[in-house]
Amino acid sequence: MTEMRIDVVSIFPSYLAPLGLSLLGRARADGLVELNIHDLRDFTHDRHRTVDDTPYGGGAGMVMMPEPWGAALDHILASDPDATPTMVVPTPSGTRFTQADAERLAGRPWLVFGCGRYEGIDQRVIDHYARRMSVEEVSIGDYVLNGGEVAAMVIIEAVARVIPGFVGNPESLSEESHSTRTGGPLLEYPIYTKPPTWRGLDVPDVLFSGHHANVSRWRRDEALRRTASRRPDLLAAAAGELSDRDRQALGESDHGCTGPR
Ligand code: SAM
Repeated sequence: MTEMRIDVVSIFPSYLAPLGLSLLGRARADGLVELNIHDLRDFTHDRHRTVDDTPYGGGAGMVMMPEPWGAALDHILASDPDATPTMVVPTPSGTRFTQADAERLAGRPWLVFGCGRYEGIDQRVIDHYARRMSVEEVSIGDYVLNGGEVAAMVIIEAVARVIPGFVGNPESLSEESHSTRTGGPLLEYPIYTKPPTWRGLDVPDVLFSGHHANVSRWRRDEALRRTASRRPDLLAAAAGELSDRDRQALGESDHGCTGPR
């Protein structure tokens, strides 16, 4: 059964080809995710398939015109009149996308992504559809890309991998960096595999101990120290969930941690 339908509108549909690869490609083949990609230029009516025009009020760059967007989005909505999607519009002026957003959006049955180019999309497109459905303007970080396609792929991958059934072992999701599922959103602890020694560097002894409680405690301590060093903002947000033992590990790190690891 399809768990989620995703539609993406772009002037560069081939930019989204990677969505057919890897785990997402398999989820599509298995019918877990239905993905439809639409070329915005198919919804224009002039010889040049124009999608942009100069900004009212002047200034540099071009703005995406509302008419092709309206035609494209109406076409998508008409394909299932009984359902209402959530629209996601990637933009550097949006709210910051987080793992919590990925988990929240994974619960929605239908997402429609509008990929901007140039200076972005005429605001009336967002305002109009916000009267009919939930519209989220979302930034993937404090930098500016050329278009919304890469941002849409980032969001789609983050959302799809937390849909139940997407990853083989759901437990692998709970210990990840930023996971909201256990013990506060910390960064992940350092990870190792074979061989036990590589170029003079040893895997920490505790990982060979077979003592699950000690391994868990070591991993949590390392996650706490790493988060304190690299992302103190995350640690501050998790402060209410820290145990006395956690605080002890952090106290030790004030003396023992020499910098980012
Ligand atoms: N004029 C816009 C501004 O200053 O906010 C920047 C437009 S950007 C050159 C073109 C498109 O790239 C945007 O419409 C959006 O789709 C996408 N984009 C760029 N940076 C992004 C980011 N950090 N997060 C999400 N989408 C982004």
